[in-house]
Amino acid sequence: MEHPENSEEYVGLTVNKGVAPVSIVNPYLKRGRFARRKLSANDYVEGILKGDTSILGQAVTLVESQNADHQQVAQEVIEKCLPYTGKSIRVGISGVPGAGKSTSIDEFGLHVLKEHGGKLAVLAIDPSSERTKGSILGDKTRMEKLSVHPDSFIRPSPSAGSLGGVARKTRETIFLCEAAGYDKIFVETVGVGQSETACHSMVDFFLLIQLAGTGDELQGIKRGIMEMADGIVINKCDGNNVEKCQLAATHFRNALHMFPMPDSGWMPKVLTYSGFYALGIKEIWDMVYQYIAFVKHNGYFDYRRNEQSKYWMYETINEQLQGSFFRNPTISDMLVAEEKSVLEGRKTSFVAAKQLLDTYYKLMHS
Ligand code: GDP
Repeated sequence: MEHPENSEEYVGLTVNKGVAPVSIVNPYLKRGRFARRKLSANDYVEGILKGDTSILGQAVTLVESQNADHQQVAQEVIEKCLPYTGKSIRVGISGVPGAGKSTSIDEFGLHVLKEHGGKLAVLAIDPSSERTKGSILGDKTRMEKLSVHPDSFIRPSPSAGSLGGVARKTRETIFLCEAAGYDKIFVETVGVGQSETACHSMVDFFLLIQLAGTGDELQGIKRGIMEMADGIVINKCDGNNVEKCQLAATHFRNALHMFPMPDSGWMPKVLTYSGFYALGIKEIWDMVYQYIAFVKHNGYFDYRRNEQSKYWMYETINEQLQGSFFRNPTISDMLVAEEKSVLEGRKTSFVAAKQLLDTYYKLMHS
């Protein structure tokens, strides 16, 4: 017998008939995710106004997209959301890498949600994210507690393009979040120059996180950045670092007195705290809310927001003009040649620039 194991004598050895392997492809896939109906601008707006975080996330992706069709829908969505925006408080949070931003934001977020209710969106401006192909800010994994909080929405920095472009997208995302009912917005940024200015241009309160250093910390931060701050908070005021932090706070307070009074009429405060041990968090947020009440009362709150809208109008014009110029194929070909002429000393920078611009204007008129 060819297969003795199939004989009735050997019941235990019987080879069972196989079953057909199960497909590794989900048979419902076509009907599900991939066949999802393309959302219209109205669908996005409806979802956002309902506070649907999945639709909000998709709308933010659209805002961040470089694709012209996506941009068109995104702009329509933003425009339709605008009447529902503006009712939040927007706080910029800045500090050098390692200052403790993510540790602090985690605690700050929990505190404001617990004490003041509402919903919190954490956004970021990180111009380095394009280079590093990944954001070092606004990353969910860095804010462990907030990322699982039902009333928080965390979004990493948009990564495409120039700082101006990245920042504009973050500003547009603020509008979408506000329309979705987020009444507290944190905008995180790294303490390296330009990105702080961009962050400052879209928030009501700019909080600068500092560390107590070797005593020369004041030299380390640029004057302009200190002048932007509405509050300076010195982190890691715990263990045997407490004294050093208090000394640093005194230095900052003295330094702030040397600057003219800010337009807001608010004298920036300097506080110490520990993000890690959650000490001094309440005092920081009491300060922020005190400031908001103060500037709402004296009219500076609205003034600052209007100035910011104006700033962003010009910023957007500049960005779009530059984009239109540099993306023009004739111009980009010409740029290579003109750059070479300048480098070889055959043309001055000004003549080359003028020729390029003249060509561009002619192209625009033809
Ligand atoms: P970020 O780069 O500004 O986001 O900084 P992180 O929040 O990642 O913090 C950098 C390091 O500082 C981490 O190792 C934290 O554990 C530590 N750290 C943050 N806040 C405190 C604090 O309040 N006290 C102490 N001792 N360490 C802290």
